[in-house]
Amino acid sequence: MAAAERRSVRILGVRVDDVTMNEAVQAIRSMALSAASHQVVTVNAEFVMRAQQDADFRVVLGGAALALADGYGIIWAARRLRQPLRERVAGSDAVPRLCEMAAAEGLRVFFLGAAEGVAEEASRRLQQRYPGLVVAGCFAGSPSEADEAEICARIRTAQPQLLLVAYGAPAQDFWIHRNLPATGVPVAMGVGGSLDFIAGRVPRAPRWMREHGLEWLYRLLRQPWRWRRMLALPRFVVRVLAERDKIGGS
Ligand code: UDP
Repeated sequence: MAAAERRSVRILGVRVDDVTMNEAVQAIRSMALSAASHQVVTVNAEFVMRAQQDADFRVVLGGAALALADGYGIIWAARRLRQPLRERVAGSDAVPRLCEMAAAEGLRVFFLGAAEGVAEEASRRLQQRYPGLVVAGCFAGSPSEADEAEICARIRTAQPQLLLVAYGAPAQDFWIHRNLPATGVPVAMGVGGSLDFIAGRVPRAPRWMREHGLEWLYRLLRQPWRWRRMLALPRFVVRVLAERDKIGGS
């Protein structure tokens, strides 16, 4: 599906594209085969709340070639605002699907970020699952601006078509926005803690919790230091309900 044909919705001013997982994988495949650079963002409630106060982050989100509905909160909000999205497309679910597609198409994937050794372990497991997957490189590096030139040179030399960046949001999204042209990679996506899940370092919430919109609770229980970031969630709910009242929803 070409970008021009894609339906999008706005959640408190932030664009989210109405794509299914299959459509997202196909769109990223087309981007990976093109010459231009494309950034994919995975929008959740924390993104939307940050965008309310951070103009630089709004620029990053606004410039994205594809904005996925990463969080259950986005699906909930879209329904409340009477512009439902067809499917949640979580970044953590998209990573294995993208690697499956890359293996089938012979596209080279570079894994940037996460703690030392995590990207290597995640990519080994993905290669076992998807034989033929070509890993152009793995590098933990750091999201610090001082390291950017060296990291970009490393990626450029490896010549991947798909770059997955695990520096956590929003650092990874700013990183991609600043550096994608210098890497020469046609498509890059911020993947947060996905490599930790795939490498088995951090367990993912059980399916029933994911399906009931409770992934945030599981992550809070496992990683309680997240509580401060998660204050964005109740604020998001309040803002969406106020917005719905303005448009006269139910
Ligand atoms: N990370 C990193 N360098 C940093 C900060 C974070 O490599 O300076 C990695 C971290 O190891 C983890 C990922 O970024 O693999 C972010 O994980 P988190 O669960 O915080 O991301 P979220 O999914 O919440 O965006």
